[in-house]
Amino acid sequence: MKQISSLAEMHQVRRNLQGRVGFVPTMGYLHEGHLSLVRRARAENEVVIVSIFVNPTQFGPNEDLDSYPRDLERDRTLLAQEGVDIVFMPRAEDLYPPGYQTWVTLEDLPTKLEGTQRPGHFRGVTTIVTKLFNLTRPHRAYFGQKDAQQALIIRRLVRDLNFDLAVVICPTVREPHGLAMSSRNEYLTPQERERAAVLYRALRRAQNAYEAGERHAEVLRQLMRDTLAKEPLARVEYVSIADLNTLEEIPAIISGSALASLAVRIGKARLIDNVWLGATPSTLDTDSENATPGRSTT
Ligand code: AMP
Repeated sequence: MKQISSLAEMHQVRRNLQGRVGFVPTMGYLHEGHLSLVRRARAENEVVIVSIFVNPTQFGPNEDLDSYPRDLERDRTLLAQEGVDIVFMPRAEDLYPPGYQTWVTLEDLPTKLEGTQRPGHFRGVTTIVTKLFNLTRPHRAYFGQKDAQQALIIRRLVRDLNFDLAVVICPTVREPHGLAMSSRNEYLTPQERERAAVLYRALRRAQNAYEAGERHAEVLRQLMRDTLAKEPLARVEYVSIADLNTLEEIPAIISGSALASLAVRIGKARLIDNVWLGATPSTLDTDSENATPGRSTT
């Protein structure tokens, strides 16, 4: 496995790669969720590039940039075991040198859901992802459904800016009791980690009701709130039933599909999770011009 930090070297190596390139951007401290993306990329491409970069511009001033968990040694071992070709670990001072002033941002999607709690977060995400796409020029890029809003924003970014690549959204990988895997679960004590299963219980309750025919968005939101209220450690930030395309709250009746999502603080961790009602990433893209990248492999 080749390790690259220099931006010039990444460009240089990329120019000489043959075949389809699959790219998985991460912030490291890898778990089975990340590895599921890596395995999918490995299965679908000749070359797999994984980036590890804790992107400072997507963290707010009072967020966990400094304490974000890191273990590069272990990450490299895991990626080598998965047969990754290139691990790209750029340096913040190279990506954001003095005088840096270019930002990529979308108008509406970043203002919803997570955007209400984390202003500026998605501007950092879409900027770094654009830069990483330019550096790695992938045919396919892999994102987790776990961060549904992020994945939907990247999908929109790729369409709007005409990136010649396919965005692949992969299912959320969970602990046996339902908690979505996340590097931030590290902040939880063993007891909190058990209790954090309440997020998925709440989502499942909404999903079961939807599958049984319930279409009133507010009824589904209330089912989630009621479930979360039973867990004294859970401090709810939001509970949402939103349109999967616009991410607007659905005021009354769900007519097609919907995104059920929530953000909850437990102990030191801020946890997010979601399920999709009446849709999957593959059904979402029926019209996708990005589903099959047409560009040649060199
Ligand atoms: P992060 O390192 O948290 O920035 O995550 C890197 C990528 O892994 C993102 O596309 C995430 O959505 C994805 N990811 C994180 N956790 C999971 C999970 N539990 N299941 C599937 N994908 C995940």
